Amino acid sequence: MVPRVKGSCEVAIVGSGFAGSLLARVLTVIGYDVVLLERGTHPRFAIGESSTPLANLSLERIGLRYGMADCYNLAAHGRWLTHHPELRRGLKRGFTYYRHHPNQPFANRGLDSERLLVAASPHDSLADSHWLRADVDHHFVKEAVAAGVDYRDRVELSGAEFERDTVRLSGSRSGAPFELNARFVVDASGPGGFLARQLSIPSGLGKTETHAGIVFSHFDGVRLMDDVVPGMAKGPYPDDWAAVHHVIDEGWMYSLRFDDGVTSAGFMVTPSGAASLKHGEGSDPEALWRELLNRYPTLASAFAEATPRMPIAFRSAIQHRLTRAAGERWALMPHAYAFVDPLFSTGIAWALRAVERLGLSFEAANRNRRVPDLETLARYDAALSAEADQIDLLVAGAYEAMAHFDLFAAHAMIYFASVSFAEVSQRLKPSDSSAWAGFLGVGDSVLGPLPRESLARLRRITQRTGAVGTTGQRSVFAQWVAQAIAERNVAGLADPARRNLYPVDFDALVQQHALLGMSREQILAALPALRGMSPAPPLSRVAAERQHPPAIATEVRAVT
Ligand SMILES: Cc1cc2nc3c(=O)[nH]c(=O)nc-3n(C[C@H](O)[C@H](O)[C@H](O)COP(=O)(O)OP(=O)(O)OC[C@H]3O[C@@H](n4cnc5c(N)ncnc54)[C@H](O)[C@@H]3O)c2cc1C
Repeated sequence: MVPRVKGSCEVAIVGSGFAGSLLARVLTVIGYDVVLLERGTHPRFAIGESSTPLANLSLERIGLRYGMADCYNLAAHGRWLTHHPELRRGLKRGFTYYRHHPNQPFANRGLDSERLLVAASPHDSLADSHWLRADVDHHFVKEAVAAGVDYRDRVELSGAEFERDTVRLSGSRSGAPFELNARFVVDASGPGGFLARQLSIPSGLGKTETHAGIVFSHFDGVRLMDDVVPGMAKGPYPDDWAAVHHVIDEGWMYSLRFDDGVTSAGFMVTPSGAASLKHGEGSDPEALWRELLNRYPTLASAFAEATPRMPIAFRSAIQHRLTRAAGERWALMPHAYAFVDPLFSTGIAWALRAVERLGLSFEAANRNRRVPDLETLARYDAALSAEADQIDLLVAGAYEAMAHFDLFAAHAMIYFASVSFAEVSQRLKPSDSSAWAGFLGVGDSVLGPLPRESLARLRRITQRTGAVGTTGQRSVFAQWVAQAIAERNVAGLADPARRNLYPVDFDALVQQHALLGMSREQILAALPALRGMSPAPPLSRVAAERQHPPAIATEVRAVT
């Protein structure tokens, strides 16, 4: 007899990264019958590790709305340590950037260094975390199963036929064929592109501005920048406990340190960067890795004793993009729809936002039809399309700005203004509609146009040839950014007096209360919430209404 995956379900989710597993669990909590299909098995390596305040806000909202205590607890480094010490993670206090030049050690010129630090949290316990994805994704799968999700791994899907009321998925599991009828399919398979193939969704890569390959691994024995470059001016947090970005001529390198000392690191290499390297075509990833390190003496020192924990890997292009994100009876999670670049760590936050949006869409679905209507799916599609464009423009601008660190530091302020304004607004005025708020300023009359405008201005300076422009041009650009973000600048950004070292600035926030439509007194009253000093919000209406098991509810209430 043929072993069968359950013959029918309401929602089939393809791919059990954290996004697929969390959505499967959310839908189960709100009463759907969900099957989660995974090609591989857990635990498994996955890239995409650095979380952000906006990601954590989504995770908190998901935890509170659906009574999922672990989500709430994983949304702050301190709570993570207390409640889930078994899940490996790294303390991330902010975003650290250095500019390196070929064959020169990083120049420590004190406050004049090519160094930018932007704090994302006021202290360690409220900080974000790098997610050791093998642990975190495995955890979310186990929690999904515990919540009642029908999870099947080692599944090879081969077809999806869309009929009037169902989608018929076919494939095999452990060599045995199966069929599964679902009312709705969510593709959470990442760049795997399951539904893209089945539905022949055209690629949208042609309009993507960002192009880069990657060479990466996890390493033991990476030295701290603080040790390699002693005596750097004191920043708002220790430089290395952050998403560390090393900007180089050929692109940039990320370095994410986990609390156990393992470091996830990778070079993003532009096409012109690759062309300038002997091993740039990537057939020998280790040689490419060594060649890049050898060009940059400070990076070479940091990695001198480092040993990879798995073979160094290479991908010639990391971008992908489709032209549709949803339609009748189907939706793509963001990572299945588009990916631009790890710069600015947008992936996790964007994926979690989609979990929220689809969760709400299913909650709102007609009782008989049970799946989101076309209007809601069109809204989801439009949101992802605009947001993918926005991420692309912002990142493409950053690559253009890498020509000169002053340009880079100024352009980065657009990102930080967008996310800090969104974070503070969402924290101070929590609302169900936050999930649908445009990501990275999309739909905001002030912030929305800035990435495109910035990219155009930067291209005029660099002439798309990496020209650094004149001092005057760079200073005009920085002034333009400062003015352009002024109406949303609640974090004291783009302030030359800060010398590129930005702490979390509550004074600036209080001063700028009017930008948030709040009085000074209202902001002062709300500060404990931002400092993590107020008790956890009560368990959500939705979970309570659905009488979620009290054990979880109690755990959430106990969090303070
Ligand atoms: C180089 C790089 C660096 C990144 N760094 C960051 C970062 O620092 N911060 C950040 O926020 N984001 C980052 N991202 C983005 C991040 O990786 C994604 O946002 C995140 O992985 C999305 O999770 P997901 O669950 O949607 O998909 P994935 O993590 O891609 O999971 C997809 C799952 O689907 C399974 N699957 C694939 N095909 C099939 C199939 N046909 N059938 C069944 N199952 C299938 C896979 O095995 C996998 O388990 C990075 C991405 C890249 C490429």
